Amino acid sequence: MQFHVNGFKPGDPDILPAAPGHRRPGDPLPETVDVLIAGSGPAGLCLAAQLAQVPQIRTMLVEPKAGPMEKGQADGISVRSMEMFQAFGFAEKVMRESVWINETTFWAPGEGAALARVARVQDVPDGTSEMPHVLINQARVHDMFLDRMRHAPTRLAPDYGVRVAGLAVDPAAAEYPVTVTLEHTAPGREGQTSTVRANYVVGCDGARSAVRGAIGGTLHGDAAHQAWGVIDLLAVTDFPDWRMKSFVRSKDEGILMVLPREGGHLVRLYVELDRLGEHERAADRGMGAEDIIAKSQRIFRPFELQVKEVVWWSIYEIGHRLTDKFDDVPDDQVATRAPRVLLAGDACHTHSPKAGQGMNVSMGDTFNLGWKLVSVLTGRADPALLHSYSGERRAAAKGLVEFDHKWARVVGARAEDDAADGLPRVAREFVNNLPFTCGLTIQYERSALTGAPTHQHLATGFDIGKRFHSAPVVRLADAKPMQLGHCIEADARFRLFVFAPAQDAGGPGGAVAALCGWLEHDPASPLRRHTAPGEDLDAVIDTRAVFQQGFRALDYGAMPTLLRPRVGRYGLCDYEKVFCADTQRGEDIFAARGIDRAAGCVVIVRPDQYVGHVLPLQAREALAAYFGGILRVRG
Ligand code: FAD
Repeated sequence: MQFHVNGFKPGDPDILPAAPGHRRPGDPLPETVDVLIAGSGPAGLCLAAQLAQVPQIRTMLVEPKAGPMEKGQADGISVRSMEMFQAFGFAEKVMRESVWINETTFWAPGEGAALARVARVQDVPDGTSEMPHVLINQARVHDMFLDRMRHAPTRLAPDYGVRVAGLAVDPAAAEYPVTVTLEHTAPGREGQTSTVRANYVVGCDGARSAVRGAIGGTLHGDAAHQAWGVIDLLAVTDFPDWRMKSFVRSKDEGILMVLPREGGHLVRLYVELDRLGEHERAADRGMGAEDIIAKSQRIFRPFELQVKEVVWWSIYEIGHRLTDKFDDVPDDQVATRAPRVLLAGDACHTHSPKAGQGMNVSMGDTFNLGWKLVSVLTGRADPALLHSYSGERRAAAKGLVEFDHKWARVVGARAEDDAADGLPRVAREFVNNLPFTCGLTIQYERSALTGAPTHQHLATGFDIGKRFHSAPVVRLADAKPMQLGHCIEADARFRLFVFAPAQDAGGPGGAVAALCGWLEHDPASPLRRHTAPGEDLDAVIDTRAVFQQGFRALDYGAMPTLLRPRVGRYGLCDYEKVFCADTQRGEDIFAARGIDRAAGCVVIVRPDQYVGHVLPLQAREALAAYFGGILRVRG
């Protein structure tokens, strides 16, 4: 991380200087805001944590509960979400606090119907990501986002005890076209209402979303008519895999999943309970924690399970549902108006918790939306950019709902479904599905944001439309070994990674110097066209270069000036733009990501860490055209 750029500041560098005029706790509700977020779940908080960084964006987050969540709900963090957490600056904290899922085991009736371990598989295949798959209470993830909001320049905090009761959009209004009715839920204020006018409203208000209802959206789909119990507990057991993620299938009592949790002692069980009638809700059965425990004990036999403390439990039925559109613009009006109300997370897609995707996909939604809203609200992009949100994320959610359908059936598979090779069907499918459950199969379709694969051969390991797959490098200026992807922060900026051809050392006459010279000085350069007067040249598009030589073979002082920019009020040098292959440890990014060594290339990475394009170093018109299709001319 970089700090002290505008002068030495003592103390915690994660706490950024406060912007003048920010709201303080206890201040009255504002009359107008740029963005009103409904709901402080993972979707709402992930969005708020991005918007909070931008002093000129006035954001408000309303939540009917009295305060932050303490326990319960989701706990699975995919490797993809961990990569995203890295951009927010709290991946290391989560890695320290969470339990890592490295191995998954499968149990089924063996000789004499006693349970036996019948398979075990590696949970995250080698080379998938530098990040682990972890489990941690959803509430702790909320805390990390809340910290980031609290320490951002706007010092954003949720308004608890307030819910969205309704809203109306006036498409003709240029300013604050969404009028939101808020209802107070705090003791003593129940039923009181207030009105706020907003430029944008984002409904992150869960499966029963009031925002979705207000724009006429409905969830379509079906239910599996099967009740499940989930319980977080502290217990004593002789089941050997209590600290492994395990699928347990008993002979006659059904199935459960064991999920070890953070702290070394806590464990979550997902337990198959009763079949439900066509129109029956799980809640109608009146089941409780004791039913989940009793069923678990029967499934675990002959192992013992002595429960010492029940921390949290819930009973639910599986539903796979998706809404038609993630914004308020009907298809026939897309050409004439931009979205004003958008939906994210469970408000627009629901699925079973067993694939561990609910929290991940919800945060993925608002990581996609956050930079787009920042770009529009800071004048960098036209509001039409917001149309891309529903298209990209609905396709991702549709893939999840379809996967979840399939997976729910597989988890429920019986012995007769197992293959002749003895491997349970659930284990086989589990392995096949790992790229999906890691969150790595999303590939955005070709669009203004996702270029054509014409030059994909120049970097075969950076799939256009998929997330940027980080790899090790060494930073030239201080010889620090690190992950290249870790220089991507959740700051709404694009990254331009320039991979140098073999003999290029950055000096004059080389392809890197020629490209950097054009980017820095030419009026047609996207850096010049899309950066506003007075902004740093990397404020919108941040250029970094990676060379094939080891760091001792390169001269930092010979690098193009674009890669050694002067920043801040003292004009200090930014030393963190140039990297080399990690030849010392043999982890060469050029080999690992299939980069053409003779030609080099440019890889454009979107602010949400997805690869936008791969282009030759000389393709200046195509480079300019890519950004011209997304960003406004401001230079
Ligand atoms: P949510 O986390 O549901 O957050 C929505 C927020 O909006 C809530 O804080 C809610 O209070 C608030 N809200 C509601 N109405 C309004 C309104 N009118 N105005 C403003 N705010 C409003 N996933 C798993 O993987 N495993 C589990 O065991 C599991 N258990 C769950 C148990 C419960 C009871 C619930 C509700 C969900 C559970 N999930 C579980 C799902 C998982 O938590 C969600 O997929 C994930 O939290 C989705 O995030 P979100 O931000 O979209 O919605």
